[in-house]
Amino acid sequence: MSDTIFGKIIAGEIPAPKVYEDEHCIVINDIQPQTPVHMLVIPRKPIPRLVDAGADDQALLGHLMLVARQMAEEQGIGEGFRLVINNGQGGGQTVFHLHLHVMGGKSMAEGTMI
Ligand code: AMP
Repeated sequence: MSDTIFGKIIAGEIPAPKVYEDEHCIVINDIQPQTPVHMLVIPRKPIPRLVDAGADDQALLGHLMLVARQMAEEQGIGEGFRLVINNGQGGGQTVFHLHLHVMGGKSMAEGTMI
């Protein structure tokens, strides 16, 4: 498991309420939400960055997107939300365990890129 905060949450070493979990991923609320709804979809597999994902991760990456959509629908933002993956320091990534930001609950038509 990765030695990041997300790896520790997945391992149960740091408590964090889970919005959803299955055998492939967990979903938690972002601790510093940038929008009224701001969740993180985190694979259990400790892929550091999107560029570290390989061809064998294709199904997992698709699963994360489908879970993100499901979470958006369940949180009532299914008609308007944004998915963000920050890749690498230059991309604004701060936790090096791949995650998707699911953001919405206010108009995302302009501004608010995380
Ligand atoms: P990124 O900058 O894309 O790596 O995003 C990391 C995100 O993780 C940020 O939006 C942080 O607010 C969030 N975050 C960091 N620690 C925690 C935590 N313990 N629980 C929930 N979200 C966290």
